[in-house]
This record gives sequence, C-alpha cells and structure tokens, in this order.
Amino acid sequence: MYGVVQSVEQLTPGMVRIVLGDGDLDGFESTGCTDEYVNAFFVPDGAPYEVPFEPDDLDGVDAELRPKPRRFTVRAWDDEQNRLTIDFVAHGDVGYAGRWAQRAAPGDRLQFRGPGGGYAPDTDAAWHLLVGDESAIPAIAASLERLEPGVRAIALLVVDDPANEQPLDSSGDVDVVWLHRRDSPRPEDLLVDAVAALEFPDGPVDLFVHGEAGEVRAVRRHLSADRGIDVSEASISPYWRRNHDDESWRAIKSQWLAEQAADA
Ligand SMILES: Cc1cc2nc3c(=O)[nH]c(=O)nc-3n(C[C@H](O)[C@H](O)[C@H](O)COP(=O)(O)OP(=O)(O)OC[C@H]3O[C@@H](n4cnc5c(N)ncnc54)[C@H](O)[C@@H]3O)c2cc1C
Repeated sequence: MYGVVQSVEQLTPGMVRIVLGDGDLDGFESTGCTDEYVNAFFVPDGAPYEVPFEPDDLDGVDAELRPKPRRFTVRAWDDEQNRLTIDFVAHGDVGYAGRWAQRAAPGDRLQFRGPGGGYAPDTDAAWHLLVGDESAIPAIAASLERLEPGVRAIALLVVDDPANEQPLDSSGDVDVVWLHRRDSPRPEDLLVDAVAALEFPDGPVDLFVHGEAGEVRAVRRHLSADRGIDVSEASISPYWRRNHDDESWRAIKSQWLAEQAADA
C-alpha cells in the first residue's frame, strides 16, 4: 500500500507532519487503536526501483539498496478523505526515515504495510498515565483525544526545549507536564525521575510508556519495583534505541525485551 505526500508541515523545530493521500489509501483499514502504526519502507538513494514496488521483484537488488523498514504511528486517519497523517521526529541529518521526512515534498510517495496496533485507553481504568519522548507524542496525542469528558490523565513528555512543545487536545481532565533535555544534566533520567516524583491518583492506572529503550526500561522498572504495579500487561515498549539505527536495534531487541521482562 502507498500514499502520495499531500502536505508537509513543520509542527515544531523537531517534528514534521506529513499527510499522505491518493495512492491506494482507499484500501486502508484502521484498527481503531490509538497507537496504530504502519511499517513504512524508505527507498535508499540510487535504488533501481521506485514506489510502488513489488517486494518479490527486488530479489536481485543489493542489500544496501533494498527498502529500509521503519515503524511510524498513524497520528490520524481521515476515512472520508483517505488521508493518513504521520508526525516524524526530525532527529538530525541521519536515518532513512528522518532524512526522508525532512526532505519530503508534495508528490513524493511512501509505501508501507499495515496498520497494526495494540492500545487504546482502557475505559475501566481510574486514570491514565502516558509517558514518552517525541517518538511517542503521536500515539499519546491520539490517546488523549480519545478520552471521554472528565477522564483523569497525566502525560509526562520529554522534548529538547519549550519550542518543541505542542498543543494536545483532549476532553479529559488532563495534566500535561513537559520536561526539557536542554535544562538537564542527566536528560536520560528526566522521565523516570518525573514518574517517581508524581503523586499517583487513587485507583487502577492504565499505563502507556514508549520512546527511547533505556528510558522506557527505567520507567518500567520503577513502576514495578518501587510502585508495586503489575506491568506485565501494560503498554510499555521501546520505540528506538540511542546510538543504534533501526537495523542494529532490531538485531538486539528480542534479547533486550527478555532482559526487560526479567527486571520485574
Ligand atoms: C510502533 C512504533 C511507532 C513509532 N512511531 C513513531 C512516530 O510516530 N514518529 C517518529 O518519529 N518515530 C516513531 N517511532 C520510532 C522510529 O521508528 C525510530 O525512531 C526509527 O529509528 C527512525 O528511523 P530513522 O531512519 O529516522 O533513523 P535510524 O536510521 O533508525 O537511526 C539513525 C540514528 O538516529 C537515532 N534516532 C532514531 N530515532 C530517534 C529519535 N526519535 N530521536 C533521536 N534520535 C533518534 C538512532 O539512535 C541512530 O543513532 C516508532 C517506533 C515504533 C516501534
């Protein structure tokens, strides 16, 4: 399945919003999950094929020129207009996906598989705790938009600085706390420290914790070891790993997840 870039918007200095349309998006079937994602394929420069391609036709293509898979959250799906919105973190001039998004222009094409997804706010929970970095903001924003009026939620979000904050809509009773790496001597501890300092409202909490692998793991460990929360069924998983591209991260991810599960 593929879509054609309709618009490119610099949401914040560190995030680019791309709206896809046309292509064969009329076949897109949303899961209804607020963490819905697609497996997008980024075509390296110099590749001898273009979107749309048949994966089976690429057997003879050199490994470095084959499509590079990356997962991205569906920030919004417009069923009437067949428009798919993805918010990409602009994390410097590195990475097939980040570079593609920062250079994208109307008419460019993006091929993907999916969608998949596994989370939507649990309507039985007393309150919701959503924790993450920029890569998780699309899913957290979509989750906050889904809350029924008055539902209690706290979102702890880490970004570089105040210029990278973005408005988040919700009918819920939501506190959004923005944490800034640039002010911090230990930016990788900001999320876990903020969760540890939080006075938890009463009642069962619905958890959504995603972002950089080490930061997610520290939060998970705290919730389990220090707060005594059963995190085994919670939506807590790493989206990317510092100092690893997605290929090298995927190579160690199962081992990482096994070690994380053994934390508690
Ligand atoms: C289910 C799921 C949903 C996701 N949704 C989104 C989304 O909606 N938006 C989004 O931007 N990302 C999202 N991600 C994360 C995204 O897939 C990764 O960040 C991916 O590595 C980006 O690929 P790249 O080609 O740009 O960089 P890579 O080639 O993978 O990495 C190049 C370098 O950039 C670093 N890097 C990668 N991502 C980041 C980052 N976010 N911040 C700082 N440095 C980084 C790497 O550590 C590496 O050093 C999601 C991941 C998953 C698993």
